[in-house]
Amino acid sequence: MSKKLDAPMCKKPEPLYREAPGKFCPVCGKRSYSLRGIHPQCAVQQADAPRQAVLAEEKREKARVQAAERLASADS
Ligand SMILES: [Zn+2]
Repeated sequence: MSKKLDAPMCKKPEPLYREAPGKFCPVCGKRSYSLRGIHPQCAVQQADAPRQAVLAEEKREKARVQAAERLASADS
């Protein structure tokens, strides 16, 4: 049962992934195979980004006002 390994050793293996058909996700930069070239979860993140920015800005403003009020009440 000696099977001869006579495959040519110089033959390079086929690349597992040659030119992949997918695009790169513009959000996370990884390859995406979805139709729009963006991961669904990344699309959600991207769609949510402006709202998140507004919320963060509101939060910052609120914290600033609260800090000012705290300072004012501490003075009296
Ligand atoms: Zn992504």
